[in-house]
Amino acid sequence: MSWDLESQCGDLRAQGLWRDLRLLEDVKGPIVHVDNQELINFSSNDYLGLATSTELMEAFKEGVSLYGAGSGASRLVSGTQRPHLQLEEALADFKQTQAALTFSSGYAVALGTIPALMGAADTIILDKLCHACLVDAARLSGATIRVFPHNHVEKLERLLATAKGRVLVVTEAIFSMDGDACALAEIVALKERYGAWLLLDEAHSVGVLGPQGRGLAAALGLESKVELHMGTLSKSFGLSGGYLAASRQVIDLLINRARSLIYSTAPPPALAHTAVHALALLSGQEGDLRRHRLWAYLAILQPESQPASAILPKVIGDETRALKVSLDLKSRGFLIPAIRYPTVSRGSARLRITCTSGHSQAQIEQLRAELQSVDVAK
Ligand SMILES: *Cc1c(COP(=O)(O)O)cnc(C)c1O
Repeated sequence: MSWDLESQCGDLRAQGLWRDLRLLEDVKGPIVHVDNQELINFSSNDYLGLATSTELMEAFKEGVSLYGAGSGASRLVSGTQRPHLQLEEALADFKQTQAALTFSSGYAVALGTIPALMGAADTIILDKLCHACLVDAARLSGATIRVFPHNHVEKLERLLATAKGRVLVVTEAIFSMDGDACALAEIVALKERYGAWLLLDEAHSVGVLGPQGRGLAAALGLESKVELHMGTLSKSFGLSGGYLAASRQVIDLLINRARSLIYSTAPPPALAHTAVHALALLSGQEGDLRRHRLWAYLAILQPESQPASAILPKVIGDETRALKVSLDLKSRGFLIPAIRYPTVSRGSARLRITCTSGHSQAQIEQLRAELQSVDVAK
């Protein structure tokens, strides 16, 4: 039996689906260098520009000097230090839940949480466009999986009406490749009617939407109706890691059952220390200022309709064509990668433009002018 790696790689190339790791050098906020060329990065999820902020860089250094570089063990063995608990308390307060638990990534949150709560006798109902980590976690749980077309609440209701066992509805507040919001009010009403629970992944909404950047559920006054609030520290927080905010009972059960928490070394306490600072910035006046600037930029880039988030997709369709448009943009100084299958469905390749408060007004104007001249439809 041959492994056939060469033909697998050849197939990917022929379909316009080949991917490479792109080396970014000399990263100064939105200005980066790729192949010695200076580019403006419009593909980062660091929505508030915190990743390279002096405040967080200083907090990280302080964290390292106080707690060292690594944690040494899993959270349950000897890896829990003061900053981990401070961060979890601050996150629970921020999400207005009884408790919160942090993980080494958002991916690990999903993989730990969903299988800890759901099993073979249960049903998980997901939006078709849910992030890969939610899909993987649902599969890992062994529960029956049902999928409804993107934001199709009538279909969701039909699935709820026939679901077996405990039922968990899973959706994203802001969809990562489309930038639109879920129909949260309708989804909440339905899951309440059928006695299901809701896991809401707020990866792209926290920091961007709602009072203090608390996300979509907070913006709609629905925080108390969401049983499982999932989020990441890798986007608006400008760091890495993830969290689940919920009732004390859920969090206690996760500490006992979430395998991605139990069998993985605790994130460096210095990182948790920095995340406490990031949360204070994001939820305070500085966060409000940065959000204000971000939304002003979004209005410049999309004047015809109010965007739902900081993600502005330009769907092109054909994979090879999307790659070409992305390369053209690169030659003119913009880093906007083509997003292709399997991240989005086949034939719906797109440019995914993300805007951050770390850009300058001039950079936003430059992008606007550029987008007027690229013909994404050709
Ligand atoms: C990025 C993302 C995640 C994963 O978070 P990481 O911290 O990067 O692992 C989960 N869900 C959604 C919707 C995301 O966009």
